[in-house]
Amino acid sequence: MTIPTATVFRGVRPFGVDGATDLVAVDGRLAAAVPEGARVEEVDGRGRIALPTLVDAHIHPDKTAWSEPWYSRRAAGGLPEYVRGDVELYEHQRTPLAERAGRLLAHAVTRGTRAVRAHVDVAPAYGLAGVEGLAAARERLSPALDVQVVAFPQHGVRRTPGAGALLAEAAASGLIDAVGGIDPAGFDGVGEDGEGPAQLDQVFGLAEKHGLQLDVHLHDIGERGLTPLRDIAARTKAAGLQGRAVVSHAFCVPELSGAELAGLAELLADAGIGPTTVAPSAHQVLPFRELRAHGVKVGLGSDGVRDSWSPFGNADMLHRAHLLGWTTDARTDEEPARRHVAGTRAFALTALGD
Ligand SMILES: [Zn+2]
Repeated sequence: MTIPTATVFRGVRPFGVDGATDLVAVDGRLAAAVPEGARVEEVDGRGRIALPTLVDAHIHPDKTAWSEPWYSRRAAGGLPEYVRGDVELYEHQRTPLAERAGRLLAHAVTRGTRAVRAHVDVAPAYGLAGVEGLAAARERLSPALDVQVVAFPQHGVRRTPGAGALLAEAAASGLIDAVGGIDPAGFDGVGEDGEGPAQLDQVFGLAEKHGLQLDVHLHDIGERGLTPLRDIAARTKAAGLQGRAVVSHAFCVPELSGAELAGLAELLADAGIGPTTVAPSAHQVLPFRELRAHGVKVGLGSDGVRDSWSPFGNADMLHRAHLLGWTTDARTDEEPARRHVAGTRAFALTALGD
């Protein structure tokens, strides 16, 4: 029989409550008491605040230039130009992808992150280098970090010849947890042009065939965003993928209010879709309160960190929670705390198991 290891955190304040208490973790999970015969180690909490370990529900570690020499970005407008910038930076970088991604994620661990959902580009420009690199980084960091890998068709499935076949290869590789998508009606439009069936047909087909989760980037606003969002909800229900589908950003949602927002929130709740936000700005951040009131769990993430898109970002989820409070104009003591907890717990993986 293996002897359990208990860690006793002496004198900490869970969620910042008044008065210090002790917390006990047994083999990495919170427990009511130290079990008999356990090996015990103690940590002096010195009255500090104790929080659940953090979750980054949306990050792009394959694109990062974290800890690399400074990279001067050119102005870009619109997805095609950003995508070209990604490829340029990728070709410019000399440090192997697995090492760059691993370094960024290791830094996230030092800032309290215990689980991430990593989107990695799958496109002919890279082949499966992102998927394989992240799988290697995940392996190395596995004692400290849970990593979910999303195969993300950043260049579009239909607009980029060969991308659909690569996505299918990634889905069959056994290295990914979720298949991604991007703006099915806009950037990767469903018109007559383009390769293969409509994007959502392809990605839902792969998710069902390989038992994968889904995570679709949706930047489009207005009906161009809302129509695919309703479609994703309907397909998620039809495929029995409730609780396994995420829509990232969903910039069309913050535009809604009143009955329209309530109706959409009910649709998302019914389909078990958990959207994620990176709190980019006041008009693009998801309306947390309204969505949560309808039972929709909202995840919080870093997005790109010092990549071709932006020189900003630090993979620090406490800082991201701060940005969330900032963009949503939080003022009272309760609000930032609630948002922080929403950000940490909304994602499927938490150290507390709830
Ligand atoms: Zn993203």
